[in-house]
Amino acid sequence: MSIMNNPRFDVVQDAFKKRAATVEIPAMKTSDYFGELVFNREKMRKYLDAKTYKDLVNCIDNGESLDRSTADKVAAGIKTWAMEHGVTHITHWFQPLTEGTAEKHDSFLDYDGKGGMIETFDGTSLVQQEPDASSFPSGGIRATFEARGYTAWDPTSPVFIQDDTLCIPTVFVSYTGEALDYKTPLKKALKAVNDAALPICKMFDPNVKKVYSYLGWEQEYFLVDEDLYAARPDLMLTGRTLMGHASSKNQQLEDHYFGAIPSRVAAFMRDIEIAGYKLGIPLKTRHNEVAPNQFELAPIYGETNLSNDQNQIIMNVMNSIARKHGFVVLFHEKPFEGINGSGKHNNWSLGTDTGTLLLAPGKDAMGNLQFVTFFVNVLAAVQKHNSLMKASIASATNAHRLGANEAPPAIVSAFLGKTMTDVLHKLLSVPSDTPIEIAGKKGQSVGLVEIPEIFVDNTDRNRTSPFAFTGNRFEFRAVGSSANCAGAMTALNAAVAEQLIAFKAEVDKAMAAGKEMNVAFMDCLKPIIKSIIDVVCFDGNGYSEEWKAEAAKRGLDTETNVAKMFKAYTSPDAVKLFTTLGIYSEKELEARNEVKWETYSKKVQIEARVMGRMAINHIIPAALDYQTRLLQNIDLCKQAFPADYQTLALTQIELVKELSGLMKDIQYKVDAMVKARAKANEIPCEYEKALAYHDIAESLFAIRKSIDQLEELCDNSTWPLPKYREILFIN
Ligand code: ADP
Ligand code: MG
Repeated sequence: MSIMNNPRFDVVQDAFKKRAATVEIPAMKTSDYFGELVFNREKMRKYLDAKTYKDLVNCIDNGESLDRSTADKVAAGIKTWAMEHGVTHITHWFQPLTEGTAEKHDSFLDYDGKGGMIETFDGTSLVQQEPDASSFPSGGIRATFEARGYTAWDPTSPVFIQDDTLCIPTVFVSYTGEALDYKTPLKKALKAVNDAALPICKMFDPNVKKVYSYLGWEQEYFLVDEDLYAARPDLMLTGRTLMGHASSKNQQLEDHYFGAIPSRVAAFMRDIEIAGYKLGIPLKTRHNEVAPNQFELAPIYGETNLSNDQNQIIMNVMNSIARKHGFVVLFHEKPFEGINGSGKHNNWSLGTDTGTLLLAPGKDAMGNLQFVTFFVNVLAAVQKHNSLMKASIASATNAHRLGANEAPPAIVSAFLGKTMTDVLHKLLSVPSDTPIEIAGKKGQSVGLVEIPEIFVDNTDRNRTSPFAFTGNRFEFRAVGSSANCAGAMTALNAAVAEQLIAFKAEVDKAMAAGKEMNVAFMDCLKPIIKSIIDVVCFDGNGYSEEWKAEAAKRGLDTETNVAKMFKAYTSPDAVKLFTTLGIYSEKELEARNEVKWETYSKKVQIEARVMGRMAINHIIPAALDYQTRLLQNIDLCKQAFPADYQTLALTQIELVKELSGLMKDIQYKVDAMVKARAKANEIPCEYEKALAYHDIAESLFAIRKSIDQLEELCDNSTWPLPKYREILFIN
C-alpha cells in the first residue's frame, strides 16, 4: 500500500486545513442578553400577575406548595413568554441514572373543540408528567410491566428554552415514590444540610434563616476533530482510545496549559459562552488545560441544585455546538493514555442567606470560631465517610483516572495547607477560651491563634489532593468529567449534615452543663481535631507510592476496584446516614448499586468488544499487510543474492518474526478475553458479574500494550487509525 492509498492521510490533511467557524456575536453587552432564555424572576414579574408572582416566589424560596389554579396561571405566563420565542414543544427535563439528561417532547398543539387547533399548556402539564419510563435504569425498583414513573416540576430551577422546546427541570420518581434520578436525592441532601447547619449558624447570628450549599464546577474536556474521531471506532463507541502509542511530544513541555487558545477552539468557546449566557449560566473562566487539546470551562459558583442543572445543560450545549465547529467533545475521564485525564472539580462550600461564607475566615473571633467549626466538621464528615466519598465519584470511566496505571491513587484525603494545619495544631495547645484572632490585628503574640483575614488567593495549592481547602471552599477534585455532580454533592452534603447534627448535640450538652458558648464549641472541637489531624488530613504528594501504604496504615480506604467501591453505599454507616436524614431508603440504595454494577459491566463489555474487533479487523490486517511486503522484499533479495540474502535481509527477517510474535500474542489474549466475557455473562448476580468484568477491564491493558508495540513497528502508511500525534495536535 502506498502512502497515497491510506485514507487516514486524507482525513488528517482535511482536519488540519479546517479554519475557525464564524460565531454570531450578539450586538449587545453580555449582561443585556444574559438569561434571555430562562424564565427568571424578571420574566415572572412581567408575565405573571402580582399574586401569582408572590405565590411562585414563596414556593421557590420557602418550599410552599402551589395550588392547581396558581399553577395554571404560571403555565399560562410561561406559555406566552415561550411562544414569543417561537417555542412549539415542551419537555419535562430530568436526570435519570444514565449519563446525561432525558427529555420527551410534546407539542403545544391540541384540538380547540370547535373544529380547529390551538396551542395549550396548563398547570397539570407543568407540574407533572408520566413518561413511559420502563427503559430507564431502576435497579429493579420498577419492573418493566409497571412502567410508570413520574416527573415532577422542580420550581427552584428555572424553566428554559432550547431551540423550539420549553424545558421544565423535573425530578423523576417511581410509581411508589422511590427516586429514579440524581436530582431527587440531591434536593433532599441540600435540605438536610440546611436543617443541620441552620441551628448552629443561628447561635452566631439569629438573623440567619437559610443555609445554602454552593457548587462551582470546573469542567475539563478534550476536543477532537470530528473526522479524526469518526476514523476511531473506539472513540465513537467508548469515548476513549483503547489503543494508541504515545506521541513523541505530548505534555512534557507544559506548553499547552494556559497557552494561547487555538482559533478554532476559541470560536467554539465563544459560541458556548453565548449560548450559556442566554441560558443564564454565569460562565467565567475558559482556558487550555495541561494535556494537548484539553480545555476547561467554569462558571461563577451558585446554589448547588441550580449549578448542577447548569452543568448538565452546558454539557449538552457543548456536544451540539462542537459539531458546528467540526469538533467532538470528549467528557471521558481518560480518553488518552500517558497524558492527563479530565475531572470536574466540584468547588463546594456552605453559606448563609445573610451573606456569610461558612468556610471562610470570619470578621472577628466569633466569626472565626464559626469558620473553624464548619471547617473541622467537614473534615470529620469526609473522614468518617471516606469510603462513601470515593464511591460517590467512582465509575467505570473515572476508574482510569483514579487508581489505575499512572493515575493518582484512589484515596480520599484532605489538603489543608500550612496556615490551617498550624491553626488546628495551635487550637489543640491553647485553653478553650482563647479567641481566634485575625492575623496582624493584635501584633505577633505567642499565645494567640491567628487566621489571615482573607486567604483565597494566597493559599498554597496542592493539585494531587482529591479534597483540597482553597481559602473559602473545598475543592472535591476527584469527581469525574463525565459525572453528574449530584452523586458527589449528595454524599458530601449528607455526610456534613450528619456530622453537624452530632456536633450540635455535643455543644448543647456542654452548654447545658454551664459552659460559655465559645468554650463549649472549642471543647467539642478539640477531640475532633485530634481524631482527624493525622488521619484524613494529608498535605503531601497524593500521587506517590508511599502515600498508598501510609493511607492504609491510617485506616483510609485504599480500594481500587470500582465494583467493590460501590459497596460503601450499603455499608451500615451509609445506610444509617441516608435513612436517618431521609435521603435514600435502604431499598433505593440497593437498587442504585444494582444500576451502578450493571452500568459498569456494560461499559467494560462494550470496551472489550470494541477492543477485540479492532484488534482482529483493523490491527492484525494492517500488520499482515506490512508483513506481506516484508516477505516479498525478502523473496526479491533471495532472487537477486541467493548466497547472502540472509545477511542482506536481516532487518526484514527480524521484523517479520517480531510482527508474528505480536500478532500471535494479540490473537491469544483476545481469545482469552472473549472466553472470559462469555463466562461473565452467565453470572446472575450483578455484583459478581461486575467483579468478573473488572478483571476483563484489567486484561485490556495487556492487549493494548501489544497493539501499541505493533503501531511502533509497522510502516506508518499501513496504519489504519489516526495516531495520538494527529488526534491531539490538530485543532
Ligand atoms: P482554579 O484556580 O481552582 O482552577 P477556577 O477559577 O477555575 O479556579 O474555578 C474555581 C471555581 O470555584 C469557580 O467556579 C468559582 O466560582 C468557584 N468558587 C469560588 N468560591 C467558591 C465558594 N465559596 N464555594 C463554591 N465555589 C466557589
Ligand atoms: Mg481551574
